[in-house]
Amino acid sequence: MQELTSFRQETCEWLEENCPPSMRKPALEKDKCWGGRNFEFQSEDQKLWLDRMAERGWTVPTWPKEYGGGGLSKDEAKVLREEMVAICARAPLIGFGISMIGPAMLEFGSEALKQQHLPSILRGEIRWCQGYSEPNAGSDLAGLQARAEDHGDHFIVNGQKVWTSYADKSDWIFCLVRTDFEVKKHFGISLVLFDMETEGVTPRPIRLISGASQFCETFLENVRVEKDQVVGEINKGWTIAKYLLTHEREMIGGIGNAPGQKSLGDEAIAAVGLKSGRLADELLRAEVAEWEVDFKCHQLTTERVNDEVATSGVVNTSAMIKYYGTELNMRRYELLMGLQGADALQWNDASQARHWLRSKGNSIEGGTSEVQLNIISKRILGLG
Ligand SMILES: Cc1cc2nc3c(=O)[nH]c(=O)nc-3n(C[C@H](O)[C@H](O)[C@H](O)COP(=O)(O)OP(=O)(O)OC[C@H]3O[C@@H](n4cnc5c(N)ncnc54)[C@H](O)[C@@H]3O)c2cc1C
Repeated sequence: MQELTSFRQETCEWLEENCPPSMRKPALEKDKCWGGRNFEFQSEDQKLWLDRMAERGWTVPTWPKEYGGGGLSKDEAKVLREEMVAICARAPLIGFGISMIGPAMLEFGSEALKQQHLPSILRGEIRWCQGYSEPNAGSDLAGLQARAEDHGDHFIVNGQKVWTSYADKSDWIFCLVRTDFEVKKHFGISLVLFDMETEGVTPRPIRLISGASQFCETFLENVRVEKDQVVGEINKGWTIAKYLLTHEREMIGGIGNAPGQKSLGDEAIAAVGLKSGRLADELLRAEVAEWEVDFKCHQLTTERVNDEVATSGVVNTSAMIKYYGTELNMRRYELLMGLQGADALQWNDASQARHWLRSKGNSIEGGTSEVQLNIISKRILGLG
């Protein structure tokens, strides 16, 4: 307890000294730092904030120090999060490197892979994308057909991925491929890593109705992948793919938790005002209160189950966290759209309508809500 108190004190002082004032505001989409070879920093402060946090290992607070991580315990990392929220400090870095492939590499990667990739991930030098889905393999991910042929010290990969978020902006990809076609589908899959600049890799953005797009189709034509870039064992990739998905789902399930985000209650007060110290609209008051209570329960449940998973190895609950977190986020935006009436339909970079539409994607990416419900019923509740 005493140690945590002094850690909190030191953290608080360090953040005060090192977090530039301009990084203590809620980040709009364009302000988020994804890093990577081609990332254009919005300001010197953004770069400074990333460099200072990376130097301390605090872009990935719980990763081991030997790879450049912060080496913090879960409790210390929680203190750091709380102190960052207290001053509204932005995340210095986001991306699939720190939230997905990094944790998978730490658990399953060879020492050489960890040494090669983890430091560049946590310093924001290399941006990663995820090559899981294919035109005929989404919910049925294990049905994937991208083919990796064995050529001794390397594979030659052919196939097509789809919905590859930010593939056109990423430097490296973690990609599921089929390395054995003779066995049952779950047993012939491997997780491989390669540079997006490798010959034969072509990401093509998919334009959406909004005009913008985060998605690509990614075509793979005779792509050479070295065997030392396989994470874990060849043909054992399904286990790793599922482990990585638990991290993706936890990240998506916590999506409504951005530091500095105005509470729904405050948004409602701004929109309809107060009457005798309470929200003026009674029906809205009930809906907002219900949402705030559910949100708090979700936060506490997430913390509790994460502690239980860490200490007693109980069944992983990421499907539950993802399902409920994304439902909450969609409910939040439905309420916000209602609060703002016709104003909510404005269409600019920071508009509510964009967030509202985007929140629906949360219930699909990382596995759809229906699939999460199947997992919850079978693996967590033990039904059927
Ligand atoms: C915003 C966003 C970002 C994404 N980013 C990436 C990315 O970076 N990389 C990547 O590889 N993929 C990405 N995806 C793809 C995502 O993983 C797939 O869209 C998702 O797994 C669903 O697959 P599908 O689109 O093929 O739908 P399908 O699997 O065809 O499903 C269609 C419908 O059928 C339902 N369904 C399917 N099977 C069952 C079942 N057994 N029981 C009940 N209902 C079922 C689904 O719930 C869904 O409603 C992204 C998707 C979105 C929306």
